[in-house]
Amino acid sequence: MNRQVKKVGIIGGGQLARMSILAGYPLGFDFGVIDPSENAPARHLAQLFIKASFDDIEAQKRLANWADVITYDIEKIETSWLVEAEQQGLQIFPSPQILAIIQDKLVQKQFFYKRGIPVPEIYTDSSEIKNFPVVAKARRGGYDGQGVWMVNSPEELKILPDIPIYFEEKVDIHKELGVMIARDYWGEIVIYPIVEMIFEHRRHILKFLKAPAQLDVNTLKQVREVSYEIARVLESPGIYGIELFFDTKGRILLNEVAPRPHNLGHYSIEACSTSQFENHIRAITGLPLGYPTLRKPAVMINLLCPPKGEGLLSFEGLEKALRLPEVHVHLYGKWQAKPFRKVGHVTVIRDSLEEAWDMALKVDKMIRITVKSEQWQDV
Ligand code: ADP
Repeated sequence: MNRQVKKVGIIGGGQLARMSILAGYPLGFDFGVIDPSENAPARHLAQLFIKASFDDIEAQKRLANWADVITYDIEKIETSWLVEAEQQGLQIFPSPQILAIIQDKLVQKQFFYKRGIPVPEIYTDSSEIKNFPVVAKARRGGYDGQGVWMVNSPEELKILPDIPIYFEEKVDIHKELGVMIARDYWGEIVIYPIVEMIFEHRRHILKFLKAPAQLDVNTLKQVREVSYEIARVLESPGIYGIELFFDTKGRILLNEVAPRPHNLGHYSIEACSTSQFENHIRAITGLPLGYPTLRKPAVMINLLCPPKGEGLLSFEGLEKALRLPEVHVHLYGKWQAKPFRKVGHVTVIRDSLEEAWDMALKVDKMIRITVKSEQWQDV
């Protein structure tokens, strides 16, 4: 066992860092975290907390001095120093070079396209567009559907914001699929079950996730092949969240890759033999990967703040949900409401996906999230 790695530094102290730390403790690791927020979900789980912006290079250096390996739980971080430091031998996983490619959605799509991965048709400039509608995307900084615009006609191009944008064909989506993949130091790859993602329609935020996705054998095979190819070309240890489109023509197309644990893999904590978080920690610390096998069908529900109101959060119905068998509640320690903010999730496990889905709908109604006070309270 490679015990040269004892301390793991994470840039970003959100719920992904929090759940990674929880998965890393049984393996004996210590953790350090950089986050600008005093109340970051991972703050009190880390032995070292550096309160700084994700772009603060001095903070990155401090973390690197303390840790044996560096990773991140967010894509929006400054990579210039990390790329240099990696070349000088600092262990950073997944590689900051991969992160830099992924940070620019156009460069990311071109990277995968050149390596034979199927992606939607891309237009780098509006003059190249052959047919409308198209989807305009901000090259950088988009998340949860922010920075994505449907463009139905040439006239609508004029109302797009003045930022670096590119265009994609508008895919006629049948299902949005997801899959977690992990690579270890030696290039061994594990592929998690293929899941189906169902989004909140008002804002494009994941609301429900079904594991496994209900697909015919051929489609499943196709998705697994594409996922394997993606893992192969990524060439750096770590866990990756992959979002795919399954369209009405039967095509499987890559939408995007996140080089970190992902909301689409939360179900794996209880539903798989090894969670995405444990395999993330194993991958970046030079340990062999665990099996990703689905133990039982599962549905994950994201707990989202109401569309309006910024104040202290209140949860109702949690006690009722907690009394149910195989209903696993996770709260991230975020008590300050912001519209549609992800503050927790619930995973429901049952013998069949239908039963899990029925119970998930009940649990989703059972847990009421409200904004108690309109005033900011630092908790
Ligand atoms: P974000 O990174 O903000 O989540 P995405 O690029 O994943 O943004 O796009 C958000 C959503 O917009 C997708 O989940 C999908 O529903 C829709 N979308 C994105 N690209 C396309 C496309 N080329 N064709 C059709 N719908 C798309």
